[in-house]
Amino acid sequence: MTRAYVALGSNLDDPSQQVRQALEALASLADTQLLQRSRFYLTPPWGIIEQPSFVNAVAELDTALAPHALLDALLDIEQRAGRVRGERNGPRTLDLDLLHVEGVQISDKRLTLPHPRMVERAFVLLPLHDVAPDLALPGNVTVAQRLQQLDLAGIERLP
Ligand code: ADP
Ligand code: MG
Repeated sequence: MTRAYVALGSNLDDPSQQVRQALEALASLADTQLLQRSRFYLTPPWGIIEQPSFVNAVAELDTALAPHALLDALLDIEQRAGRVRGERNGPRTLDLDLLHVEGVQISDKRLTLPHPRMVERAFVLLPLHDVAPDLALPGNVTVAQRLQQLDLAGIERLP
């Protein structure tokens, strides 16, 4: 089994419920165990700011799936949630990003690991910190260290 981290985000069609359902879908993936889930965070939109706030969370998994098979499973869960691909950074019912797979560095047409943009994103690192504060990020900093350098303005922890 390999440790992996998945970021979840939604800003349409009852976002908290979308994230809860996605966590259930992750928990029932073949050859995979859901080890931990972060708390849920309400976060301001990124890039395109004229859209609803997002609910973000992170899941920690152990999986026997290979990285591309895990990506396919995530894209399948997005599809089943009714995801329609619109503009980049635009509103979405569910976004599942593979952040990190233990020991894996890949950059091909379908998959880049570790996820190249996560180190800039407080809305990813804050929930990741709930489950893996000491995880090493690209650049040889931990999640906790990197988070101290980011602006957390506007992010609220949901009850
Ligand atoms: P974004 O999450 O950047 O807003 P999408 O969810 O529309 O964009 O994803 C677009 C594509 O990104 C996916 O079809 C997938 O092949 C690719 N991709 C590359 N690396 C990753 C990764 N680490 N996690 C998830 N998707 C990835
Ligand atoms: Mg995505």
